[in-house]
Amino acid sequence: MRIGIYPGSFDPVTRGHLDIIDRAARLVDELVIGVLVNSSKKPLFSMEERVDFIRRVTKNIPNITVEAYDGLLVEFAKSRNASVLVRGLRAVTDFEYELQIAQTNHKLDSSIDTVFLTTSVEYSYVSSSIVREIASYGGDIRQFVPECIVDDIYKKAGRKQP
Ligand code: ADP
Repeated sequence: MRIGIYPGSFDPVTRGHLDIIDRAARLVDELVIGVLVNSSKKPLFSMEERVDFIRRVTKNIPNITVEAYDGLLVEFAKSRNASVLVRGLRAVTDFEYELQIAQTNHKLDSSIDTVFLTTSVEYSYVSSSIVREIASYGGDIRQFVPECIVDDIYKKAGRKQP
């Protein structure tokens, strides 16, 4: 059984993430979405909210589990018997950072490989930070995030849906 981990902050999950999740779920038997407790970033959404959003937007994909994790990604992967890490590449700007992380993780545990999925063009510019920014000004985020979490994002931003 091939188990993959898709790690990230998902603050909040976007249509770009969902595109990667959809496609990665077809490449592995089980895809664990690892939501990072990241002390260096101060997330807008709590861990519970981020996990709940992902569970809601992936409820129709059968081979997905969503879990919070803290600490080293390779340790989390090992604890779930995962052999594949999935990351998305939006543009060349992602590449340098992702390459470094992938090589480091492989050095830490040579049984784990990172697989990169290139984003579908229609979502290549979407990021969680853009969603947070647009929502904070009351702009329209519906094309960037799955419908079922739109209300919750505006609520957090203290804005009404336009
Ligand atoms: P991190 O804080 O780890 O960068 P993110 O939640 O921003 O976490 O992203 C998680 C993963 O999803 C990363 O591999 C990132 O490149 C990828 N990703 C983010 N937005 C998109 C998108 N629009 N299309 C494809 N992949 C994306």
